[in-house]
Amino acid sequence: MKISNDMSGQSATSAPNPLPVETARAIIGRAVSRVATAERVALRAALDRVLAEDIVSPIDVPAHDNAAMDGYAFDGATLAQGGAPLTLAVAGQARAGHPYSQTCGAGECVRIMTGAPMPDGCDTVVPQELVTRVDEAVTFDAHRIERGANCRRAGEDIARGGAALEAGRVVRASDLGLLASLGVAEVAVRRRLRVAFFSTGDELRSVGEPLDAGCVYDSNRYTLHAMLARMNIDALDLGVVRDEPDALEAALRAAAASADVVLTSGGVSVGDADFTARMTSTFGDVAFWQLAMRPGRPLAFGRLWPGERGSNQPSAVFFGLPGNPVAVMVTFYQLVREALLTMSGATASAPLQFAAASRVPIKKRPGRTEFLRGVATRDAAGHWSVAPTRSQGSGVLSSMSEANCFIVLDHDRADVAAGDAVEIMPFDGLI
Ligand code: AMP
Ligand code: MG
Repeated sequence: MKISNDMSGQSATSAPNPLPVETARAIIGRAVSRVATAERVALRAALDRVLAEDIVSPIDVPAHDNAAMDGYAFDGATLAQGGAPLTLAVAGQARAGHPYSQTCGAGECVRIMTGAPMPDGCDTVVPQELVTRVDEAVTFDAHRIERGANCRRAGEDIARGGAALEAGRVVRASDLGLLASLGVAEVAVRRRLRVAFFSTGDELRSVGEPLDAGCVYDSNRYTLHAMLARMNIDALDLGVVRDEPDALEAALRAAAASADVVLTSGGVSVGDADFTARMTSTFGDVAFWQLAMRPGRPLAFGRLWPGERGSNQPSAVFFGLPGNPVAVMVTFYQLVREALLTMSGATASAPLQFAAASRVPIKKRPGRTEFLRGVATRDAAGHWSVAPTRSQGSGVLSSMSEANCFIVLDHDRADVAAGDAVEIMPFDGLI
């Protein structure tokens, strides 16, 4: 698809109508697709990777009926015969890994420990707390136990042939354990997505360099490195590039040649965009958007070719993020993250979001989506409330460190009064 023909009426740099965030998300969603091929890895190496196959269980989990508690296993049919105090003879014992090898007969029970296989003839476990044991016999109140109680059934967790995990899942700690419980030693996962990134700006100095007058340290490369690393993406840091057309073009082409995705920060605000747009026109298909969003108004999106535009060489997806450090993070999480998941082959799930009461009034103009940095707290009664951090400047990175959530004020939302419900997006689980 041609990105630049799909900009909802926006021309390269002049934008009478800022593009709603949802529209930008939809355009990006249509323009990206899964690129990653698959490889097989050992189980431990699958953590945080994207499954490339459905996992079907080769066995029942658990593999056999087993005791859920320490107690005495017996045939639950005995319970129906009435008789409140029921006395059974202890015929033997079953421990985890050491089954009772005989059949448990009428009037008998088997001493059993949690996890031990249920002996033949047994379907119920009476917990040891409920019995009185005298020598080789136990007595308990039959009314206090139901047939089938305290017995975990074979296949109760996952039945043989059943779906355990679906392709597209990002493997988490529980999944690794689940795969091990099936005896799976290797799984097919997508190769890691490769993302090349660099910062632009004559004023930028790298950590380790002296800070010349009028300069700032480049923080975006560190933020981007971290956000990509948390997504387990193969990130390639190409450093700082000066605001010079030749240097920028060379860096963009090199990035496009070596990665699936190119991310840059800076150089897309109104003053710079014309220049960047002209420069990318020979080897890119890039739209320069003014988003109806705060922070994060300017954003470039499209494709870059290492050689000529539209050539047969593989192209890279390109995001030109704004320069302001908070805007970089907000646009990354709100627009880039989902595209990276899709390209990685992951089933993208929407970030966790829920309502909380605003502790203070918030000024909001309808017609743009705002992502404020918020501090959400839970009171003694269990109610969540939130307030914006002191500074909301798009360059104030400490607001991100101070916050524990985004406050998401939708496109059409107007001013918020103290006590009104607002949507919050917690950082934990998202980041
Ligand atoms: P720009 O979008 O290039 O006009 O940059 C907007 C603001 O963000 C300017 O104040 C820049 O100095 C600042 N900025 C741009 N890139 C970075 C960076 N990599 N690290 C820290 N600040 C940056
Ligand atoms: Mg700049």
